[in-house]
Amino acid sequence: GMQLGADDYLSKPFKELELRARIRVGERIIRTHEALVEARETLRFEASHDPLLRIWNRRVILDLLTIELGRAKRLQSSLSVFFADLDFFKHVNDSYGHLVGDEVLRRAAGRMSSAVREYDHVGRYGGEEFLVVLPNCTAEAARDVAERVRQHIGDKPIVTTPTQLEITVSIGVSQWHYGQEISGLLHRADVAMYRAKQNGRNRVEVENAS
Ligand code: GH3
Ligand code: MG
Ligand code: MG
Repeated sequence: GMQLGADDYLSKPFKELELRARIRVGERIIRTHEALVEARETLRFEASHDPLLRIWNRRVILDLLTIELGRAKRLQSSLSVFFADLDFFKHVNDSYGHLVGDEVLRRAAGRMSSAVREYDHVGRYGGEEFLVVLPNCTAEAARDVAERVRQHIGDKPIVTTPTQLEITVSIGVSQWHYGQEISGLLHRADVAMYRAKQNGRNRVEVENAS
C-alpha cells in the first residue's frame, strides 16, 4: 500500500491512541505541504513583481513582450506598446518627500492597471516610467487605451495622507510592424513619449511606423 503512495497504515485490531497519534502526524504533513506551497507562491510573486507597485517588474514585462511578439508573428495579429512617464514627478518628491512620492506612484500604478484591458500587461520599466504591452491592438486602439489611462490618472487628484495632488502622465504609443525588433518598437514608443513631454505633457502621442 505504501509503495502505491499511501503515507501510513495501521493493521487491525488497532489501538485508539495510536490511531489518533498517526492522524496528528498526517495533519502535520498536510500543514507542512500547505506552508511550502504558500512560500513558493510568495517567492514566485516577489521574483516577478515590483515590490513597491505590485505590478510586473522590468524583466517580466520584457519577457511578456517577447512572448506576445512571438504570438503576434505566429497569428499575424497586431501588437502595440506604450511608455507612460509621470509628469514633474521630481517636484512631488522635492515638495512632499519620498514617502508621499512612493504613495502617489502606487496609486498611479493602481489607476493604470484598472484602466487597461484585462489581457494587457502593465510593468514598471524604470523609476516612474511604465511599460504597457497591448496584444491584439493596433496603434489606433492603443491610443484609446492610453487616452483612458491618461484620463484615469489625471482627472481626479490623488489623495495621500498629508495632501492631495494633481498628477498627470505623458504617454508614447507605438505599434509593432512585421520584421521589427523589440528594441526598435520600444525606441519608437520612447520617441513618442518624449514628444508628448515636449508638446506640453498630460497627453498621448503615437509614433507611426516609418
Ligand atoms: P518629466 O515631466 O519630464 O518626466 O519630469 P520628472 O520630474 O518626472 O522627471 P523624471 O521623469 O526624469 O524624474 C523621475 C523622478 O522620479 C526622479 C526620481 O527621484 C523619482 N522616482 C523614481 N522612482 C521613484 C520611486 O520609487 N519613489 C519615489 N518617491 N520617487 C521616484
Ligand atoms: Mg517623469
Ligand atoms: Mg521618468
